[in-house]
Amino acid sequence: MDALRGIGFDLDHTLAIDNNLERVCFLRLLRSVASRGGRSLGTLADEIDSVDRLLARQRSGEVTVDEAVRLFAAERGLMSGDWFVDSFRKMAVESVADFVVPLPGVERTMEELEKRGILVAVLTNGWDPLQKRKAEQAGFRGPVLVCSELGERKPATIAFERLLRALGTEARQTCYVGDSPRDDVAGAQNAGLAAVWIDWEGREYPNDLPPPTNTIHSLAELLTIVPQCVRVS
Ligand SMILES: [Mg+2]
Repeated sequence: MDALRGIGFDLDHTLAIDNNLERVCFLRLLRSVASRGGRSLGTLADEIDSVDRLLARQRSGEVTVDEAVRLFAAERGLMSGDWFVDSFRKMAVESVADFVVPLPGVERTMEELEKRGILVAVLTNGWDPLQKRKAEQAGFRGPVLVCSELGERKPATIAFERLLRALGTEARQTCYVGDSPRDDVAGAQNAGLAAVWIDWEGREYPNDLPPPTNTIHSLAELLTIVPQCVRVS
């Protein structure tokens, strides 16, 4: 690898956790389902299962967030989901301050990287403006590329190419830091970047994937593996 010039970061479970923000917002909409003449799916456990299935489909890229909200309404007998889409989006963005907790050391790590002349950006799956608001709440002040805006999502190589374009760096001068072995580590490596796996949750790395370039257990540890760099003008 050439001298490191840029670092891309995943957002969720890399810079911050959101404490099931989207699940809670869906469940809060259940009251509106009832008041608008919709039906219950059964117990609260049944409702949670259905919401979690929709969120899994959204996170895999199978459906957009708006489609997930419309399906949520349709499953409960409400065929016009527009009101629910608007309400969900607004509630999610407004809930960020209460739900999102940064991982320790985000601001200090970014300041130190800046001192070392390393460019940073976030590349995150998920939807805008939720992800941008979450990055702000996490204390990240650099560019934030959200896959719903790009029209590409990790682990596709083209998503990482968009990151390189935003950073203005070559793949061989860039590394990507993320918690997902498949979306972050394998995706970045397939695009020619070095990949740092952040494992602060003590997980096993899947043995069917090539290992990450480095593994760290906290953001602060990133500073110990990033070489001091000459500021690039
Ligand atoms: Mg993540």
